[in-house]
Amino acid sequence: MLDGYVSYALVYTEQTRRIFVIVSPTRGRFVLTKECATEGCRCIGCFLLEATVETDDGPYSVLDLEGGKQVQDKLFAYRFTKPGQMFIDALKHQYADYRGPITIAHLNKLFDQPNALLMIDRADDGTFTHSYVSSTVAMRVISRGCRATPHCPCIACRIVDMAYAENPDNIVPTVDISSSRGTPDGKLLLPIWIDDSIISALLSRDPAIRHSFTPNFFESPLEQIFYELALLDLHLYPQHRVGKYRLDFAIPDKMIAIELDGHEYHKTKYQRTHDAQRDRWLFGQGWHVLRFTGTEVYKDIDRCIDEICKLAKVERLSPRPLTRID
Ligand SMILES: [Zn+2]
Ligand SMILES: [Zn+2]
Repeated sequence: MLDGYVSYALVYTEQTRRIFVIVSPTRGRFVLTKECATEGCRCIGCFLLEATVETDDGPYSVLDLEGGKQVQDKLFAYRFTKPGQMFIDALKHQYADYRGPITIAHLNKLFDQPNALLMIDRADDGTFTHSYVSSTVAMRVISRGCRATPHCPCIACRIVDMAYAENPDNIVPTVDISSSRGTPDGKLLLPIWIDDSIISALLSRDPAIRHSFTPNFFESPLEQIFYELALLDLHLYPQHRVGKYRLDFAIPDKMIAIELDGHEYHKTKYQRTHDAQRDRWLFGQGWHVLRFTGTEVYKDIDRCIDEICKLAKVERLSPRPLTRID
């Protein structure tokens, strides 16, 4: 599907020498040689330009020389061919990592190679299933049961809504909806051209990304953390109103209410009575109220999520177990 493991060789031509840089999703960016004298000097760079690998269809060049593209004045980029990819691991870091301006995201864009794909598939019940794949994230389902409503809280809709600011003057939507295309089997493919590291960090529930990704309107850190960590598995509507009550979280189509009791011991008798009345009223309306204490959430969020998933009859999709909550 996504040939997302494409690596590149950059060739800088200076007055008396050529510099070869490798840019690879698996090996990073490094200088292969700075000492290429000229064409045919027999350095590792020259060797790479001429190297072939044997395949069933005969010899195949390691680099796609015909498809090479000029990146800048005196700078060319070549893709490794598919058979040539295996050659990458044989290359050694000769010098320190390359810190120049050319990133794999630039090259992917230049070669029309998205960094990631969001795939949308319509399930039998009319809901949408979203999958994701990139050079760093193996293809996997990230959301099921999405109805693509305007404020759908599923992770895929949230990614589609995301924008990425390279700088304040250049804000680009994360997903390029304008160049989406359909597949013969009815899937919709949405390319992502920007560096996908933010999304891959988000999908692995990286705390640094989680905090900046989720909205900031929660009343307590407990609610915030719960939302951030449950987002990948559950379509949670925070602060959802039912009748005269406001639920901490709701899964409205399943009529599941989730209440977090952060400071149960601080509660007055009046508050406890109020909670009990509310739970009874919700029960009468057909809601299922699940209460979790702060200790339960902080100690084992995955068990809380499991419990809700089981009740909601949804399959868990997030990686686990979660080793650290912060
Ligand atoms: Zn050379
Ligand atoms: Zn959605």
